[in-house]
Amino acid sequence: MAGQAGGRQLDVLVVGGGVVGLFCAYYLRSSGADVTVIDAGPVGGPQSCSSGNTGFVGTQGATPLAEPGVLSSAMRWLISPRSPLRIKPRLSGELASWLWQFGRRCNEADARACYGVLLEMKRRSLEILTQACRERPSLAATFAAPGMIVAFKTASGFERACRSVPLAIARGVPLRVLSDADLRALEPGVEFDVCGALLNAEGATLRTPEFVVALAEVLREMGVEVIGQARVTGFEVAGGGRAIGRVRTTAGDFAAGEVVIAAGAWSARLARQLGIGLLLQPAKGYTVTVDTPPAAPRLPVLLSEGKVALMPLGGRLRFGGTLELAGLDTSVSRRRVDGITATVRSYLPGLDLTATRQVWSGLRACTPDSLPFIGRCAPHQNLTVACGHGYIGMGLAPVTGRLVAQLIAGEQAEMDLASFRVDRFGSG
Ligand SMILES: Cc1cc2nc3c(=O)[nH]c(=O)nc-3n(C[C@H](O)[C@H](O)[C@H](O)COP(=O)(O)OP(=O)(O)OC[C@H]3O[C@@H](n4cnc5c(N)ncnc54)[C@H](O)[C@@H]3O)c2cc1C
Repeated sequence: MAGQAGGRQLDVLVVGGGVVGLFCAYYLRSSGADVTVIDAGPVGGPQSCSSGNTGFVGTQGATPLAEPGVLSSAMRWLISPRSPLRIKPRLSGELASWLWQFGRRCNEADARACYGVLLEMKRRSLEILTQACRERPSLAATFAAPGMIVAFKTASGFERACRSVPLAIARGVPLRVLSDADLRALEPGVEFDVCGALLNAEGATLRTPEFVVALAEVLREMGVEVIGQARVTGFEVAGGGRAIGRVRTTAGDFAAGEVVIAAGAWSARLARQLGIGLLLQPAKGYTVTVDTPPAAPRLPVLLSEGKVALMPLGGRLRFGGTLELAGLDTSVSRRRVDGITATVRSYLPGLDLTATRQVWSGLRACTPDSLPFIGRCAPHQNLTVACGHGYIGMGLAPVTGRLVAQLIAGEQAEMDLASFRVDRFGSG
């Protein structure tokens, strides 16, 4: 690959073939660039966080992790081995800085501002997905937009959610409070043990890993080279330290006019090799996929206080959750998985979840404010970063890809990129 810049054809190397890297490649290729994607594993393989998640997209779930009251819940969760949160005790300056920046953002003003940005990203991404699926049957086969139920176990949780409905509606989210009769009519025969529920009519889902595999195939048809099993091991800096010259990988060296780091939870480790600090923590989560039991919900359901998502997949049912700040470790904790299963049983006591087909763990890349890092990385003139999409990366990736393509082409970006600056925590 040989790179050129400035209005002519660009050659771009995208590091990371998860949903974010693939959408970057999609829009870069659409704008005429010659694009190669490389991934350390097989594209769509279990190492990628995009491969085994619950696939909720659409306008639900744009609330940042850092919000008022979350610190007191976190204190309670940290002492329970089955809770949805764990922080592995360790001496780490990066973890300490991350927690400090997270704590600073647990206030109403920051949470509202981040919600606005995330909602805008999710809305634009849903439009992109809907359009792409109209044009590409292989993508459409993995996408559904049946709406989404948000269920509440506690009266206080439900009341708080009901208070936030007018704000969501004012922002254009089609959310409505369900009566018991509404819920029964939506999900006849399903036994819910909850205090109340909402319906987001825009709730949509992507089936994983099928969506990622289909998107990689679409890219190949568009002329993108997608290379699996090629791990980036280092960079050769050129131009007096102001540009990436070569990218070293286990499959040989690459030279590219532009490099995009979209390596999810591994992005910080790669960026560090270039002297760039990204305040990113890997946050492990699990999904469990079972044969669909009788009387299972037809619609996706978010079990709100339990922080568990439940996703019907035809003959299978997938549920997942948990956020473990334990570094780049993908080992499975049986106790956490049992905790997720117990949460599902507490909201839906009638479900038989014994026919387990698969337990999967994945690493989300989390920033303290839940906004991704999307931007150029000084002093390297040909480096762009796209990572940090946290717990909603499937729902943020499409617009991220378009923003990256606009940035690299030197066009006016469709959203204000200031919110995504890589140095916003003073670490860039
Ligand atoms: C349990 C769970 C449930 C989730 N549910 C949802 C949901 O319902 N909705 C939603 O929107 N999001 C969800 N997410 C989050 C979502 O999965 C992620 O935000 C998203 O997949 C991130 O995509 P990515 O492309 O940034 O990272 P990844 O998919 O992890 O891709 C990064 C890729 O980079 C590659 N890589 C790493 N290092 C190198 C290297 N040195 N060289 C080459 N390649 C490298 C990796 O192999 C990997 O394939 C969930 C996550 C979890 C864990």
